[in-house]
Amino acid sequence: MNDKRGKHIAIYGKGGIGKSTTTSNISAALAEAGYRVIQVGCDPKSDSTTILRGGNDLPTVLDTLREQSKVRIEDISAVGFGGVLCIEAGGPVPGVGCAGRGINAAVELLHDLKVFEEHKPDFVLYDVLGDVVCGGFAVPIRDGIAERAFVVTSSDFMAVFAANNLFKAINKYAPSGGARLGGVIANSIQANYSRPLIDDFASHAGVPVVGYVPRSMVVAQSELYGKTVIEAYPDSEQAGVYRKLASCIDANSESVIPRPLNGPELKKWARTWGDRIFQAESGVVQHMESI
Ligand code: ADP
Ligand code: MG
Repeated sequence: MNDKRGKHIAIYGKGGIGKSTTTSNISAALAEAGYRVIQVGCDPKSDSTTILRGGNDLPTVLDTLREQSKVRIEDISAVGFGGVLCIEAGGPVPGVGCAGRGINAAVELLHDLKVFEEHKPDFVLYDVLGDVVCGGFAVPIRDGIAERAFVVTSSDFMAVFAANNLFKAINKYAPSGGARLGGVIANSIQANYSRPLIDDFASHAGVPVVGYVPRSMVVAQSELYGKTVIEAYPDSEQAGVYRKLASCIDANSESVIPRPLNGPELKKWARTWGDRIFQAESGVVQHMESI
């Protein structure tokens, strides 16, 4: 895209894994550091930017396009914490149509309205649902819209499974100008095996882990106030974790093409971890770090 400004980054992951929470806290931390940021929610759930805007709703691009023939940037955006420009792509009427349509519509509209030229962002973060990587959801990582993607996962197998599917999509599009992978963001770290399990999966797929975000009550509390942790609890340890993650994404522009595991490899890998966790839980192995 020739009118592209700033670094365009897509954050993918399974539904409910913490994409919007993590993305919003990264946006807030980048804004706090003085950057101009746009966050584009690319999930039919349309709640990506809620905690940047005091918990309030925002008309989605798709709904607004349905209702108005002429759409202005003011109609589909709101300025949130730290001046972050918030946009929600939206989705089709439930049960009808492709869930990826909102993303296509939003990306096209932002270019038509010359939002990037006028807003001059340093960062544009796309928060994208990644349970299924159908054509619509692949839009931000295809055709050079985002240059880098990050994948959020926890140590739950379904999250790892979704991450591996995202690696497959990135692997497919990267050679023809699509996004490369910046790395994995490990979220909801709580059990002692969470970190080694995610590290091991990432190393099998040949990708770096760029940050570890603990499962924290502070996140839940901030969400109830309709805020990011950066806004609600700026002096907390968790805010420090998000700031570190944001500065890592800012400083490091390295990226890779992942090597996804195939079906049997992923199953074998999962079984090995099942055994390791069983051994640790049953006392055969005392410290997770040792395995
Ligand atoms: P997604 O955007 O991937 O669907 P969300 O960001 O909406 O997921 O997060 C789902 C739920 O998990 C939210 O209630 C959020 O507050 C919670 N959550 C996410 N990350 C954490 C964390 N590190 N610690 C505690 N709760 C978390
Ligand atoms: Mg979300």
